[in-house]
Amino acid sequence: MPVIRSDLPALVLDSHDYGESDKIVVFYCQDVGRLSALARGAHRSKKRFVNKLELFTFLQISYSKSSVGSLFMLDEAELVNSFISLRTDVTSYLVASIIREYMLLTTRETSDDDQLFQLALWALHTLNIGVDQRQVLALFMIKLFDVLGYRPDFTVCQSCGTTPAEEKEVFFNVRSGTVTCRNCSAGQASGGRLLAPGATKMIRAVQQQPVSRLNRFKPSGAVLVQMLDCSHRYSRHLFQRDIHSWRELDRVSHR
Ligand SMILES: [Zn+2]
Repeated sequence: MPVIRSDLPALVLDSHDYGESDKIVVFYCQDVGRLSALARGAHRSKKRFVNKLELFTFLQISYSKSSVGSLFMLDEAELVNSFISLRTDVTSYLVASIIREYMLLTTRETSDDDQLFQLALWALHTLNIGVDQRQVLALFMIKLFDVLGYRPDFTVCQSCGTTPAEEKEVFFNVRSGTVTCRNCSAGQASGGRLLAPGATKMIRAVQQQPVSRLNRFKPSGAVLVQMLDCSHRYSRHLFQRDIHSWRELDRVSHR
């Protein structure tokens, strides 16, 4: 039975050559989630796909599938936004690549998650219009943990169960995604990361807002550095993998 979808919003996550003239393109689509489709003739400069299957591009796609077990075929791709500055600015490119790596690492074919689509679209769009790249990455990470069901708990101390006061420092435990208050961590080498009060407050606020409201947050300075550090370390522990582009970003930042 043929499956046909048309005009589906989709982001290009990956593509590779297939045979002489075709490409297999990995999309993350609204309603459908991650989907791989064969783009016939994409490698030759066929008009209908030219300049449309670049990484990070926002498209409306139409695809079909002829029978069970066969590949999805990309029939049409209409450009919505090429997010051009993600390919012209090094830092934007690296942050978009980090987002792309997380999307590929944490999703499976047709694992539909509309929140994840909205989050990725928000992040790429916001990067493209020139918002501070590390700010976008920090907010993306906090919401990514939420959407995937790995929200770290900043509301109670894992040892004494009290809610740490917002003006107090806490230790973030990378392995458990929890915090320990200053009293409980006194004298022990917890291995946790010290979080300044501003960072905890910011993370808790971001966790409570939907993707559509992320633009109101502007983490900066030490708060931003701590949000990125904790997110990166926590994700490395959760997924047991490092993100290649994040190492590249650190290298560019410290040059
Ligand atoms: Zn405590």
